[in-house]
Amino acid sequence: MAARDIKSLTLKELEEVLNNLGEKSFHAQQVFSWIYQKAVADFAAMSDLPLGLRRVLKENFYIRGLKLRKRLKAGDRTQKFLLQLTDRNLLEAVIIPAEGRVTGCISTQAGCKFACCFCASGLLGFKRNLTATEMLDEVLYLKDYAPQKRLTHIVFMGTGEPFDNYDELLKAVRTINSPQGLNIGSRRMTISTCGIIPGIKKLAEENLQVELSVSLHAGDDKTRSLIMPINKKYHLKELIAACRYYIAQTNRQITFEYILIKDINSDLQNAINLSKILRSLKLCKVNVIPCNPVKELKVEPPEQEEILSFRKHLLKSGLNVTLRTPRGEDIEAACGQLRLRYEK
Ligand code: SAH
Repeated sequence: MAARDIKSLTLKELEEVLNNLGEKSFHAQQVFSWIYQKAVADFAAMSDLPLGLRRVLKENFYIRGLKLRKRLKAGDRTQKFLLQLTDRNLLEAVIIPAEGRVTGCISTQAGCKFACCFCASGLLGFKRNLTATEMLDEVLYLKDYAPQKRLTHIVFMGTGEPFDNYDELLKAVRTINSPQGLNIGSRRMTISTCGIIPGIKKLAEENLQVELSVSLHAGDDKTRSLIMPINKKYHLKELIAACRYYIAQTNRQITFEYILIKDINSDLQNAINLSKILRSLKLCKVNVIPCNPVKELKVEPPEQEEILSFRKHLLKSGLNVTLRTPRGEDIEAACGQLRLRYEK
């Protein structure tokens, strides 16, 4: 029998499997703790398990389904990982340490079909959805390399569109959240979407306390359709209506990501349009991010003066605004950039 990924099992399922193998089911708890809390990649290292059980587990299961191809460290301590799937597709994951927190940034798809004009992820097209266990693999690799082997936050902001892979995403979220899994609180997880309306509505009904980010990047349909083709399917008006529904349903704030791209979406009129469409939302925040330059896409951030006046207008119109500084620039940590270098 071919070995299975042990992470595809819930604790209860592993207890049953152990029972059927004639082993004591309470060992399942210990195995879970080694895999998820201690981020151990080898059954042999599970020192409180009987040797025979370690052997049986090794014969029937594997722990990590991904191979580490490359690890890069930036001057600001951001670490970027290029990981290889069993079918040789590549994906990226990132560790971003900041004051008092260590965030793991996870990919949900190999490649991306959404082709946003500023994002390197779409340049090589879409390969396939990741399974929940592959997303967990990413988290475990990051945990292994994180300072003190500890991740405090998870963001689904790597390559791909989380809501285009909804069911596997939610499975991963549940294991990351579960006390027997990684035990990371749901409020410390962020799902970022390019604006897939059915996904936003579905998440609103899950009764999950995860954070939702919407990559908006424009406050009018013309500009948004130009830079994000998905806007031709889900127009701004309906998108904002879905966000309003999400807020009403969950009483949770939505963060709108707004990347500033020189000559495209960064002048005062863009700021006016943005504040107009967000005005009607009760709980929201805007995260303004000067874009990371991507050579292949010819996108550049605007001058500092324009960035500050954009933010000033949003603040003046009463919006809650943060200005984020790009991280890991010297290792091309923006979405999809590393994979692009290696898969070309
Ligand atoms: N598909 C999801 C998640 C992946 S993108 C989404 O669209 O939200 C995650 C974030 O990285 C998005 O906000 C995206 O706009 C941002 N991003 C992509 N390319 C970038 C670049 N060149 N500079 C800065 N941020 C970028």
